[in-house]
Amino acid sequence: MSKFKLKLSFLIVSITIIVVLVTSSVSIWSSYRNFNEILKVNKTDMQETYVMEVLAITQDYLQGSEKDEIELYMEQIVDTLLEEKEVSFSLFFKKTIVPIILVIAIMLGLVIWLTIKITQPLKNLSKKMELGEEINENDDITAWYYEAKMLKNYVQNMMICSQSKIADLTEQLNLDSLTGIPNRRRMDQTLHELIVNKVPHAIILIDLDDFKSINDTYGHTVGDEVLKAFANNMQNIVDEQGLCFRYGGEEFMVILPSRNIDAAIQLAERLRIKQAIQETACGRPVTMSAGITAFTLNIQSPNQLIEIADHALYKAKQSGRNCLCVVRNMRQMIIK
Ligand code: GH3
Ligand code: MG
Ligand code: MG
Repeated sequence: MSKFKLKLSFLIVSITIIVVLVTSSVSIWSSYRNFNEILKVNKTDMQETYVMEVLAITQDYLQGSEKDEIELYMEQIVDTLLEEKEVSFSLFFKKTIVPIILVIAIMLGLVIWLTIKITQPLKNLSKKMELGEEINENDDITAWYYEAKMLKNYVQNMMICSQSKIADLTEQLNLDSLTGIPNRRRMDQTLHELIVNKVPHAIILIDLDDFKSINDTYGHTVGDEVLKAFANNMQNIVDEQGLCFRYGGEEFMVILPSRNIDAAIQLAERLRIKQAIQETACGRPVTMSAGITAFTLNIQSPNQLIEIADHALYKAKQSGRNCLCVVRNMRQMIIK
């Protein structure tokens, strides 16, 4: 639409210039014709005046001569003196039209040059926006006039703003709103990358014990506080050894890249013991159970690995809660 508008304005300017040129040419031509008419009338008037005056003077000198002969004679003299001189068109063209055409051509050239100079920054700007390219200070958009400069700055600021907003939203998209730790979406991405790149890693799937009763007894708000505190504790203990995620509800996941299953057991045990003795928002400890497993080369997808850990977690729950269950392979399941 904007491109069409630009083309339309060019068309209007061109048509206006053509109309101006045609009208000026017609008016120049009619001026030329009028000018010659005036010359003719002027000459006739002058001829009559001269004849009358010269006739009067001559009559004083030549008393008795034939009046008509003298009049004719005088007319011939004046006619010769004021011989009709029509201005030749080539002279008129050279002296009047050529300078006008030159001025118009220079003006036209200036208008075209200025139009290109004005539209160039806008054209470059829209091209960059269309291609989704970044706009910065050192690009080839020479916004030499105020409006284009303002427009460029505005677009540049808008782009920076929207980029940081997109980055913020993407970050928020991967974070859990209650606990502030990465969510399941990010967890799936992380696991996928590790599995695809065959990076050895261990995982701990954690579930808080009897959490429903916490909500039922102390209320949902207190339950939320317990979840937040647990996420915080978990992050402090895991620290730089791994990554913590909220898997969903009162379930969490720890991924330990480049760590073996024994490192995962040690870490999970530290966390379990701390949970078992630490007071929470409800005034008493809230214990946890966990299923632990590690990546093997036959694992193809995050779901496959999570299923094994979930199976181990189920076994831990069956074994009385507040404990860990480790699966080294599907035939070897150890309760700790
Ligand atoms: P188990 O030991 O077998 O895991 O028992 P449980 O009660 O913890 O398990 P269950 O699946 O029966 O209940 C999970 C509870 O967690 C139910 C649900 O209301 C609660 N829950 C899930 N998400 C949230 C949350 O965001 N905030 C709060 N306050 N509670 C939550
Ligand atoms: Mg659960
Ligand atoms: Mg639970």
